Amino acid sequence: MRRWSLTTTFAAVSLAAVVVLGLVVGVVVQRVVKHAATAEAARAGELLARFVEDRLTPASVATGLTAEEVSYLDRASGHREDRGQLRSLRLYAAGGKILYDSDHKLDGQSPPVGSELALAYSGRVASEVEQDNRPEHPEQRRLLEVYVPLRLATPSGTPAVLEVYLPYAATEQRARAATRLIAGVLLTGLAALWALMWWLSINVNRRLRRQAELNEHLALHDALTGLPNRRQLTAEVGRAADAGSPVGLVLLDLDRFKEVNDALGHSFGDELLNQVAGRLAGNARDGELVARLGGDEFAVLVPAVADPAAAQAVGARVAEAFEEPFRVRGVLLDIEPSIGVALMPHHAEDVDTLLQRADVAMYQAKHGHTRVATYDQVTDANSVERLSLLTELRAALGEAGGLHLAYQPTVELATGEVVGVEALVRWDHPVRGLISPGDFVPLAERTGLIAPLTQHVLGLALAQCRSWLDAGLRIPIAVNLSARNLAEADLPARVLAALAEHGVPPELLTLEITESAVMDDPARAELILHRLVGHGVRIALDDFGTGYSSMVSLTRLPLAWLKIDRSFVSKLTQGGSAAVIVTTSIRLAHDLGLRVVAEGVETGDQLEQLRDRGCDVVQGYLLARPMAPEQIPAFAASRTRLPAGG
Ligand code: C2E
Ligand code: MG
Ligand code: MG
Repeated sequence: MRRWSLTTTFAAVSLAAVVVLGLVVGVVVQRVVKHAATAEAARAGELLARFVEDRLTPASVATGLTAEEVSYLDRASGHREDRGQLRSLRLYAAGGKILYDSDHKLDGQSPPVGSELALAYSGRVASEVEQDNRPEHPEQRRLLEVYVPLRLATPSGTPAVLEVYLPYAATEQRARAATRLIAGVLLTGLAALWALMWWLSINVNRRLRRQAELNEHLALHDALTGLPNRRQLTAEVGRAADAGSPVGLVLLDLDRFKEVNDALGHSFGDELLNQVAGRLAGNARDGELVARLGGDEFAVLVPAVADPAAAQAVGARVAEAFEEPFRVRGVLLDIEPSIGVALMPHHAEDVDTLLQRADVAMYQAKHGHTRVATYDQVTDANSVERLSLLTELRAALGEAGGLHLAYQPTVELATGEVVGVEALVRWDHPVRGLISPGDFVPLAERTGLIAPLTQHVLGLALAQCRSWLDAGLRIPIAVNLSARNLAEADLPARVLAALAEHGVPPELLTLEITESAVMDDPARAELILHRLVGHGVRIALDDFGTGYSSMVSLTRLPLAWLKIDRSFVSKLTQGGSAAVIVTTSIRLAHDLGLRVVAEGVETGDQLEQLRDRGCDVVQGYLLARPMAPEQIPAFAASRTRLPAGG
C-alpha cells in the first residue's frame, strides 16, 4: 500500500478534526438557541396567563366558563393569532379536563395528562418544542408549547392551567441566523487556522527533507574535503561492477604525511589534504570517482578499465598530480604518493577484496620505491597465511615461546681459533616446523614486532653468553639488528640494560647492522651507534657490498668489523668483479682500521682466495653450520683445522 506523504496525512487528519469541531459547535449553538426560545416562550405564556387570571373566577373554573369569559378568551386568542404571536390556547381544569380550546374541538374533553401538564399542576411553568400535527403552513411544523399554572385554585386545590401554543418559526429563524453567523465566524476561523497549520506543515516538511538530504550527504562524504567517503566508494564500485566491465581501483597514501602533520600541525595537514583532494579531483576524468578513505588515504575509482596495464596508466596519471610541489601557507612541500592499483575481476571478486588488494599493491609501491604498483598475485599469494603467521609470531614472542637461537662460529683465518659466534634466530613453528629468519624477520619489520623480536633475541643471546662465562668460556657473541631498530632512540639504553641484566661485559657483544639500515637515516644511525660504542659494544657492518653505502658514511661510523657478503665470496673463484670488490673491500677496511669477516665460505678454494687477500676471519658452512649452543664449547676447544689451500 502506498503511504501518504506527511502533508497529505496532516491535511486529512486536520480537516477531519476541523469538520468534527464545526459539527460540535453547530449542535451546541442549536441547543443554546432552543433553550433561549423555550425560556422566552415561558415568559410570554406567563404574561398572557396574568391577563387571563384577571377575567376568570374560581367559580367558573370549577363549574364551567360563562359565555362572556369564552368570548374573551376567543378574542384574546384570535387577536394574538392575527399578529402571528399565538397559535392556540387551552384552559385545563383540575384532572386534565379541557375547559376551553381556542379551536373549540376539544372543549369538555379530558385527554391523557402529559408530563408538562402534570408539572404545571404542581405549580411550575413548563415549556417545550412540539411537532404541530395540524400545520396550515407546512414550513411551520414546530410549535412552542407552554403550560402556566393559573393563580385560580380549583376546588381540589390544584390550579387551573393555561396552555399556550406559540409559533416556533420566528424563533427558529433567529436561531438559524445566529447559528449561521456563529458557524460562519467559527468555520472561517477554523479554515484560517487550518490553512496556517497546512502552511506550517509544508514548511516543516520541507525543512525535514532538506535535513534528510544533508544527513545523506554527510553519510556519504568526507567532512574535511567534501569528497565521497569509503561508503560511497564501496557502493559505487559495486554499481560499476554490476555494469559488467572491469573496475579499476587506484589507492594512494602520502609518504611521510605524518611527519608533516607532526611538524607543522594538524590544521596545516588538513589544508594539505584539501589541496591534494582538489588536485586529485581536478585530475580525474569523466566517470572516475575520487574518494577520501580517511587519514592521508585517497582512492580513485575507474569504472571501466580495459586491463591491468590501462589501470597502471591511470595510476601513473594520478601520480602526475603530485609533480608540482604543494604550497601550504607559503611553505613549499614536495609530497610523494604511494599508489597501488587493483582490478576487479582480475584481482578480486568483491569490493572488500579489491580494496585489500589495492592496499597490498600500495604497500608494494611504498616499499619497492616504485611509486605506482599494480597488484600482482604472486607477491601476495599467501597474504592470509602471512597474517596468521604474524599472530603466531606475536604469541611466540610472548609466553607461548618457540623462538630459539642457532650459533654459527666465526674463525680466525690465520690460527683456526674461534673468535666468536653469530646468533641466528630460528622459529620452531608447531605446525610448519622450523622457519628460517628470512621468512619471518621481514614480516616483523613491517609490523612493529621487530623491536620485541630484537629484544627477545638479545636476551637469549646474552643469557647464553652468561652461561658460557659461568662455565669459564669467554665467547664473543654477535646479534643481528634490523634497519628499523636503528630508528629507535632508546635502543642503546635497552641494549645496555640487557647487558647489565645478564652481567655480560659490553665488549663481548657485537651488533650487526646492514648498510641499508644506515642509509635510511645516516645521521641518526651514527648517533645511536656512537652511544653504543661509547659503552664498549662493537659494531659490525653486515652483508657489505649489497647496499650502496657511501664511503663518507663508512668512515664516520664507529665500526669494528666489516662482513663481506656471501654473494661476493661465492663468486670469488670465478674472478671478475666479485674478486675485485672483495680485494678492495678488505684493503679499505684495513685502511680504516676494521677487521674483515668473509661470510658464506663453502669451499677450500674460497678460503684460499680470502687468505691470499688478507681476510681476517671466515664464517661459513665449510667451517661450521649454525649449531645448537651446547655444541659450541666443544667446537671452540678443538681449534679448527683449516684446510690448506690447493
Ligand atoms: P646474516 O646475518 O648475513 O647471517 C648469515 C646467514 O647466512 C645465516 O642465514 C647463515 O645460516 C647463512 N650462512 C652462513 N654460512 C653459510 C654458507 O656457507 N652458505 C650459505 N648458503 N649460507 C650460510 P640465516 O640464519 O637463514 O639468517 C638469514 C638472515 O636473517 C641473517 O643474515 C640476518 O640478516 C637475519 N637474521 C638472522 N637472525 C636474526 C635476528 O635475530 N635478528 C635480525 N634482525 N635478523 C636476523
Ligand atoms: Mg649477520
Ligand atoms: Mg650477512
